[in-house]
Amino acid sequence: MFNNKELFKTSFQEQLVSRLGKSIEEATAGDIYKILGSLIREYVGRDWAETNRAYKVQQEKQVYYFSMEFLIGRLLGNNLLNLGMLETVREGLEELGWNLEEVEEQEPDAGLGNGGLGRLAACFMDSLASLQYAGHGCGIRYKYGLFEQKIIDGHQVELPDDWLQKGNVWEERRADKKIEVRFWGHVKVWEENGRTVFDTVDYERVWAVPYDVPVIGYGAGHVNTLRLWSAESAMDPAKMRVEGQNSYYKFLDYNRSVESISEFLYPDDSGYEGKLLRLKQQYFLCSAGLISVLRTFDKLKLPYGKLPEKVAIHINDTHPTLVIPELMRLLIDEKGCGWDEAWDITTRTVSYTNHTLLSEALEKWPVGMVRELLPRVYMIIEEINKRFCGMLLKGDPHSQDLVSRMAVIESGQVKMAHLAIVGSYSVNGVAGLHTELLKNDVMKPFYELYPERFNNKTNGITHRRWLMHANPELSRLISESIGTRWISHPHQLLRLERFKDDASFRERVMDIKRGNKLRLASYIKQKQGIAVDPDSIFDVQVKRLHGYKRQLMNILHVMFLYNEIKDHPSAERVPRTFIFGAKAAPGYYLAKSIIKLINVVADAVNKDAQVNGKLKVLFLENYSVSLAEKIIPAANVSEQISTAGKEASGTGNMKFMMNGALTIGTLDGANVEMHDMLGDDNMFLFGLRSEEVLDYYRYGGYLARDVYRQDSRIKRVMDQLVSSGSFCCHEQEFGLIYQSILDHNDEFFVLRDFAAYAKTHAAMERVYLDQGAWASKSIVNIAHAGHFSSDCTINRYASDIWGIRPVTL
Ligand SMILES: *Cc1c(COP(=O)(O)O)cnc(C)c1O
Repeated sequence: MFNNKELFKTSFQEQLVSRLGKSIEEATAGDIYKILGSLIREYVGRDWAETNRAYKVQQEKQVYYFSMEFLIGRLLGNNLLNLGMLETVREGLEELGWNLEEVEEQEPDAGLGNGGLGRLAACFMDSLASLQYAGHGCGIRYKYGLFEQKIIDGHQVELPDDWLQKGNVWEERRADKKIEVRFWGHVKVWEENGRTVFDTVDYERVWAVPYDVPVIGYGAGHVNTLRLWSAESAMDPAKMRVEGQNSYYKFLDYNRSVESISEFLYPDDSGYEGKLLRLKQQYFLCSAGLISVLRTFDKLKLPYGKLPEKVAIHINDTHPTLVIPELMRLLIDEKGCGWDEAWDITTRTVSYTNHTLLSEALEKWPVGMVRELLPRVYMIIEEINKRFCGMLLKGDPHSQDLVSRMAVIESGQVKMAHLAIVGSYSVNGVAGLHTELLKNDVMKPFYELYPERFNNKTNGITHRRWLMHANPELSRLISESIGTRWISHPHQLLRLERFKDDASFRERVMDIKRGNKLRLASYIKQKQGIAVDPDSIFDVQVKRLHGYKRQLMNILHVMFLYNEIKDHPSAERVPRTFIFGAKAAPGYYLAKSIIKLINVVADAVNKDAQVNGKLKVLFLENYSVSLAEKIIPAANVSEQISTAGKEASGTGNMKFMMNGALTIGTLDGANVEMHDMLGDDNMFLFGLRSEEVLDYYRYGGYLARDVYRQDSRIKRVMDQLVSSGSFCCHEQEFGLIYQSILDHNDEFFVLRDFAAYAKTHAAMERVYLDQGAWASKSIVNIAHAGHFSSDCTINRYASDIWGIRPVTL
């Protein structure tokens, strides 16, 4: 149906009539989206069932990727692409009077994640299915995704992201597969036939109901499953009658508390508020996910000792670490394993990815909270800790200090990263530098104890969404030039390198970029009424707002450029457009203040007639996957300027590179690997190295006030932050920013790196004047970006960590 345009048009219109009672003339864009989505969803149903059957019959080892976040974005365009139906449907709709892009705009983003970590999980789902691996996602179906950001008077305002309001065409509610999850209660212990029995009583029951979303692989007919759990009341209203007077209110309270479990995504990936609810969410995911994995395994009728041969459970950061004690609990209490056997099985099944070295993001839970909410699980964590510490002491009886540094439970807190390392067989970092810092700094004693567990898996991005879908013109040019093999073998993009000196190829690359810039410019015009010059350098920083990512350094540099223009109004300049997009965690006041600063500077610059088109500054509200797909293909310059040692990998950097932007960046995260491939000629490096940053933290020696005094450019922009008249409204508006730099000595070395940053920007500007040279560097970037396809990353996870191979259907 989808391969034949006429057939598609006919069935599409039939569906429109039978489901909505509308003709094509009466339908709204929302109707078109809904019908198209459900048609595709039904169409893949057979392949989906077929895939599951094949996995079962062939008894393939299956991977379950547990993650509290899946930042999926929209599915319509990507599903059509992966099914090979994009053109038929586009043309069919065209003939029916509809534009596919407009229909795609009807789909709400599935914003079930904060940023890179959640987006990684989504890219991995796409690669697993496209490479024909048996790999599924396990997450939470949050009723509200990450908040929707509005900018009002320059301030970030958060609105609920009610993404399910109009239903979700992709999901399938599977009430028949619901699972009981238990909280609270007391553990009773007794002996029975020489065995100790643990039984939890007086617990609270909650239903976990799965909503399955098909994950459609590219071209291959493989359809994996993303299973998202939703919490529902498990109280039997019939029983209420016998329970008397207060039961109705109890019922309401209980219902409220159940709903809250899958109600919203915490809008922060470090330092949580509402800790108890967050812990409840984590256990809810782990328990429901594991019980459902074991149900599937049970159908194979194999002994549990075989579990690690058939199942790999991967935890995306420490958020799902409770799978370790929960798997122990299920094996011991429900499946009759002894401790040693259960421990052996667990530690051969679970693997863990570390995503951050920032100490505020290393999860810890108060012992009392875990013990009360999850009494039996807590007993198991205690036992794991006891045995682990005992083992350390046996190795070295004088190592009390080491024991307290490495313990799973210490100072009244459960340390999730320690539990994750102790209870898994693989611990990976997400870029070379990050893994080295993990091994030699933050988790050093664990690395010395278990060197074989540690390994690196540099992050990746799916080139299907981030190149083929987001930048179809560039994809077409690539295929015309080197054939289509790069689609299944992204390393083949390297073959583009031979075109880097080809004048006509360069020109076509720049034309495509200009087309993308025009499209973004018209989006900006429509949203903000501001005209931007498509021939200016589009210089982009889009990512979560955080001190370490240093959006502050970027905007201070923009203020400096503005001062320059004002001081030398007649000097020749390369026109520049700075584009920002970023959400700040609602309680992160400094970050919100930086958003306000960007908006205030944008206002002042954009309305200043003296600037005369040399400089524009934009803050695009509500940064999300779908917005990223519009912005990134239009970027000339990618800002990856984190304080060295702080950005574990970054994946935004890879998306820009793949779309031909040149990076200005520090030697941090995956930038290091980009630099290894590109060399100094094809990216713009600056700033402190991670060793230098570490040395400053250890030994001191940096005084932000000295830099402030010595560099007049810096003094001027810093003073402008707190003097009325220059940019702002009232003097205290940016006091917090000013203090963070000068009173708290600039934790992220913004002033320290400023001069090098400004100098590198100037050098970059000069290169842009030579469009041929710029195009050549852009081509080299695209050519090497295949290395960062998540297909390559997933292949390495598959062979080195999970031990799985592609499955032929
Ligand atoms: C890729 C992506 C990120 C991660 O960006 P970084 O620059 O690596 O922090 C965050 N949010 C969205 C919507 C993304 O697509």
